[in-house]
Amino acid sequence: MIKAENLTMHYGPVKALDNVSFEVKEGEIVGLLGPNGAGKSTTMKILTTYLYPTSGTAKVGGIDVLQDPLAVRKIIGYLPEVLPLYMDMEVRGYLDFVARARGLSGARLRERTDLVLDECGLRPMYRKVIRELSKGYRQRTALAQALIHDPNIIILDEPTSGLDPHQIVEIRQLIRRLASGRTVILSTHILQEVEATADRIVIINHGKIVGDGTIDELRERAKDQERARVAVAGERGEIERLLSGLSGVRKAEFLGEREGFVSFMLHGRLGSELWREVGQLARTKGWELRELGEKPLTLEETFLSLTERKEAPAASAREGVA
Ligand code: ADP
Ligand code: MG
Repeated sequence: MIKAENLTMHYGPVKALDNVSFEVKEGEIVGLLGPNGAGKSTTMKILTTYLYPTSGTAKVGGIDVLQDPLAVRKIIGYLPEVLPLYMDMEVRGYLDFVARARGLSGARLRERTDLVLDECGLRPMYRKVIRELSKGYRQRTALAQALIHDPNIIILDEPTSGLDPHQIVEIRQLIRRLASGRTVILSTHILQEVEATADRIVIINHGKIVGDGTIDELRERAKDQERARVAVAGERGEIERLLSGLSGVRKAEFLGEREGFVSFMLHGRLGSELWREVGQLARTKGWELRELGEKPLTLEETFLSLTERKEAPAASAREGVA
């Protein structure tokens, strides 16, 4: 339904996108996840034909954004990052206006306006001037605008930004409801956001795609970033050397010494093979082990490990160590 093909975008000297390719299949909800400045909005502006890429192209609903931008605009609903609202209009009047601009009229216009008012929970607000609405209701109004013509493809740029936790939960539920039978791409810099709403994540960083898959697949990819701590009674130097030498251990990070035990955080791909090796080492060396705890990567750390060249800061790895 959506296919970005080698999108590159320069804003003058700034390279905002660098050869970005990904796909969104029919009926999928895909989260475009990345830190601020990663290129999410730029990608969405290209998909919605508000910007032309420097090179590469995209197809939306099978239509090339460069060849027929108007046809693309007709079949998509777009919630831009900056809400496209007229502050002096009433909610109903605004939706009416957008509907007319979308070519709706008569009974169909009334039917669609009524439906999106209900769908977006705007019924109690429909006679209010947009200026008087809370941020949450403004967001709903902008979402209603994106849905008025009943598009099959919905593109949402940071749909929950600036909302309070209650509003975030409501908008997420709303998005999930809207997504049934539709194809949705939403951007966010918040990991929980995609975990809560998306089937699949495309991670973008510095204009490049650095991850693409389900949350479980991305966790799997970040596996060589696993960590576990061990504490061994003995002399630091020898223990450090032997632990570092284990297969799968990229680094044995010294954490501290207490009551004769030295603690290390092992970084690497830490499967059952590793634990066998540690056990063997402990037997042959007569080590007394105290801790042998795995610290599974949190989703945050998975994300960090995929978007940073350096590993996750050691401070977080030290939490809870004896
Ligand atoms: P995101 O939405 O992920 O925060 P953007 O797509 O807005 O990222 O921006 C990507 C990069 O392009 C950033 O470095 C940003 O400063 C730059 N950028 C975005 N829009 C413009 C513009 N109109 N002119 C110049 N640089 C821009
Ligand atoms: Mg943005």
